[in-house]
Amino acid sequence: MASLLPLLFFFFFASPSLVNAKSNSTITSINRDLYHSSADLLEQIKALVHRHPDKLTAETIKTGNKGYKAEITVVTYCRSRKETDDRSKFRILLSFGQHGRELITTELAFRILSVLSEEQFLPDVDAASLNNTLDKLIIKVVPMENLNGRKLVEEGDLCERRNGRGVDLNRNWSVDWGKKEKDYDPYEENPGTGPFSEPEAQIMRKLALTFDPHIWVNVHSGMEALFMPYDHRNTTPDGVLSERMRSLLSKLNNVHCHKHCMIGSGGGSVGYLAHGTATDFMYDIVKVPMAFTFEIYGDTAASSKDCFKMFNPVDLTTFNRVLNDWSSAFFTIFKLGPLQLDGNHSKAMASGVDKFVSIDEYLDGYLMERRNRYGKKMEVLDVGMQEIRTYFRLFLLSSVLLLFMFCSRIAKGKSSRPIVSALSI
Ligand SMILES: [Zn+2]
Repeated sequence: MASLLPLLFFFFFASPSLVNAKSNSTITSINRDLYHSSADLLEQIKALVHRHPDKLTAETIKTGNKGYKAEITVVTYCRSRKETDDRSKFRILLSFGQHGRELITTELAFRILSVLSEEQFLPDVDAASLNNTLDKLIIKVVPMENLNGRKLVEEGDLCERRNGRGVDLNRNWSVDWGKKEKDYDPYEENPGTGPFSEPEAQIMRKLALTFDPHIWVNVHSGMEALFMPYDHRNTTPDGVLSERMRSLLSKLNNVHCHKHCMIGSGGGSVGYLAHGTATDFMYDIVKVPMAFTFEIYGDTAASSKDCFKMFNPVDLTTFNRVLNDWSSAFFTIFKLGPLQLDGNHSKAMASGVDKFVSIDEYLDGYLMERRNRYGKKMEVLDVGMQEIRTYFRLFLLSSVLLLFMFCSRIAKGKSSRPIVSALSI
C-alpha cells in the first residue's frame, strides 16, 4: 500500500486536470505556464528591485510566535529614494495574496511593480504625465502577504485560503474580531486565538501604523467587486470621505471594470458580514481616508471544489486581460486618488481628534520608524520592542502610584475638607 502512495500523489498533482470519480467534476491544477511559483515570484521581484535601485527598495520583515514563523516582503516605490521618509508625499499601501488560493492577485502585484519600474507599459498612457503623477507618491506593495498559506496551495491544497496554521488573515484584525455568523466555517474563516494572534497580521498592522497611508487596497479574487468599508456591517460610513471613496470606485468601475463590478460596503454587497478584516481596521483605527478591498476575478460558474478555477483565470487570454485591466485601474488610482483627497487635507480630517492610538501602537510605530532609519533587523527589534513596552508600562504604573501617594498626603494635610473630584457629575 505504501508503495502505491507516491503513484497516487503523482496522478493527483502531475496531471493538468483530473476527473474526480466521486463528484464527476473536473479539478483544475495550477497552470505553471501562466503562474509563477511563490519562490520564483519573490525572486523575480527582488531581481526587479535590484535592477531599479533609483525607484525601488525591498525589505523582508520576519516574526513569529509559538513555533510558527512568517515573513513578508515589502517593496517601496519612490522615484527619488532619498525621499522615502518624506511625509509630504501621498502614501499608498497595497497588499496582495492575503488568501493563499488567490494566485492571480500576486501576479498583479508583479505586473504593477514592472510598470512602476518601466519594464512594462500600459496602453494609452502618456509617460510624461504618468511620471508627473508618480513623483508625488510613495507606494508600498506587499506582493504576497500569506507566503505560508500560498506554499500549502502549491503543495496541492488548492482550496486553502488561510495562513500556514489555519487562520484566516482577513479575520485576525481587531475591529469586531471573533464574531461568528450562522454560516461560520472554520475551514474558511478561523479568526485565530485573539486579535493579531498571527505574525502576518502583526507585521501588516505595524506597517500600516508607521506608514500611515492615504489609500489602502487589499486585493483579492473570487468575484469582481470594488468594496469600501464596512465589512462587518451592511452599511457604508457616513460623511464626505465615504462619498469620495464611492466616487473613485464608480470611476474605476466605468473605466476599467466595464461597469460590472459590484460597488459598496463589503458587508452589504458580498452577501455575508466579515468580522476582523484588514480594511475595517485601516478605516476605523489607522484612519486611512480611502480603504478598499478589490476582488479582481472570479469564475462563478466553476464548481466550488475546483478552487484554482474559481479564483484564478486558467487561460492566457483571460489571464492577460485581468492583469491589463487591473494594472490600469491601479494607475488610475495613483492619478485620481491624490486629486480626490485634495492632498494631505483629508488625511488630517480622517485622523483628527478621534484618532486614539494605544501605547502599544504608538511604540510599535516609533520603533518601526527607528528600524527604517537605521536598518536594524526585525527579530532584534521585536525583542527590544517588548522590553521597552514593559519598561514603559512600569514607568507609567510607578508614576501613577507616586501621584496617588502625593495626593493622599495633601488630602491628609487638609483633612478638614473633603477631597473634591475633578469630575463635576
Ligand atoms: Zn480572498
